[in-house]
Amino acid sequence: MLYFTNQQLKSIRPDLIRNFSILTPNMMHTKDSSQLKRIAILGATGSIGTQALEIISDNPESYEVLGLTAHSNWKKLATQANEFRPKRLILSDKSNSQSFEDALLYKPEQIDYGPESLRQMAADPNADLILNALVGFAGFSSTYDALKAGNSVALANKESLVVGGEILTAIPGFHDRLIPVDSEHSAMWQCLVGEDMNTVEKIIITASGGPFRQYSREKMKSITVKDALNHPNWEMGNKITIDSSTMMNKGLEIIEAHWLFGINIELIEPVIHPQSIIHSIVEFKDGSSKAQLGPPDMKVPILYSLSYPDRLPLNVPRLDYKKRMSLTFEPVDFIKFPCVEIAIEAVKEGGIKPAVMNAANEVAVERFLNEEIRYIDIPVLIEKALSKFNQRTITSPQTLFEVDAETRKFANTLFK
Ligand code: NDP
Ligand code: MG
Repeated sequence: MLYFTNQQLKSIRPDLIRNFSILTPNMMHTKDSSQLKRIAILGATGSIGTQALEIISDNPESYEVLGLTAHSNWKKLATQANEFRPKRLILSDKSNSQSFEDALLYKPEQIDYGPESLRQMAADPNADLILNALVGFAGFSSTYDALKAGNSVALANKESLVVGGEILTAIPGFHDRLIPVDSEHSAMWQCLVGEDMNTVEKIIITASGGPFRQYSREKMKSITVKDALNHPNWEMGNKITIDSSTMMNKGLEIIEAHWLFGINIELIEPVIHPQSIIHSIVEFKDGSSKAQLGPPDMKVPILYSLSYPDRLPLNVPRLDYKKRMSLTFEPVDFIKFPCVEIAIEAVKEGGIKPAVMNAANEVAVERFLNEEIRYIDIPVLIEKALSKFNQRTITSPQTLFEVDAETRKFANTLFK
């Protein structure tokens, strides 16, 4: 048996690796498999998925990777698979299946292609936890199927709750088996451990304000894709980076908190906190508040979602309270950032409106990134879609798929 570090592995010819029995760092530890948490990561190649794998790599005595998925980034998925050797792999876009399989240095038990296969992994009875790190509406079915199958879910994919909060919260065990990954919701969760929801007066959800917090409305007219992808505090996937800049992300997160904690939408108050140190605050009826603080590093809430109810050590830079440090707060400018109220109104109206709002936003973000529409057209496009579709009730996931498809079709015809 030969042992190589990850660095050394990168320089070894794949054909040599195939012909020898090679041990990677993650296979080195003698594991008692009954004690390992078996995790399937949906969206492993993205920002959240990659950070989750780094955490798992640092904690081989606690976690085992059961399955990994990617959409089209087969090269990165193959690299991750060769390191972690999961039994199951999925590429939801099958166009590079042959190149993908050629790049694998071991034989997984199962490789599947196409979006439907994601649903099977989400419902895998061998998983102890499903980390849903998919982006957009594409993540809804996996959350639904995982919960329906009785699996526990660490949820990064906030869009699942935005579009289908009513359906998901009705699944028995929702509140016991779903833990948030989003930093603000992890903060709320941590503040609420051991508390009674009836004693909560309100929740203050913090927002960095994004790169355009200090822009004039005039200056917002000429925002480019490059400007919008440059978030001051967080490095994230493109979709959430644009959502953060328009503050739609805060709107989506208010809806997420509403379903997650069963709290009235009016009692969730967004506040700008540019330093991103306080990740949210819970205010109780006796006038006391709890806040959760930490460095602006997604590994902290990702690890908490994987280790909950335990805590594991994490090597991230600590806050130094001995240094002069300011924690400041400002009100949200709802005129400059109309997406926050658009999202709140959509969830208040209920029915199909949150799903319409979400689909229109996904199309608007994609079209802005493709330079088909201007930055300031994003909220306008969403409003146009919201007024196009008459209210209907959501009776099943099928209704959501139909509404999502109809909205996307319409939103793609706008501004042409
Ligand atoms: P990324 O865009 O970085 O990654 C998305 C992942 O999903 C990739 O693995 C991608 O595969 C896969 N994917 C994309 N489209 C599809 C599709 N249609 N079907 C199946 N898989 C798909 O996203 P993030 O990691 O930034 O975000 C993931 C989720 O977490 C989002 O809902 C976001 O709002 C939320 N979140 C993210 C935070 C962050 O810091 N990034 C913070 C808080 C929440 P491929 O690489 O092959 O394209
Ligand atoms: Mg967040």
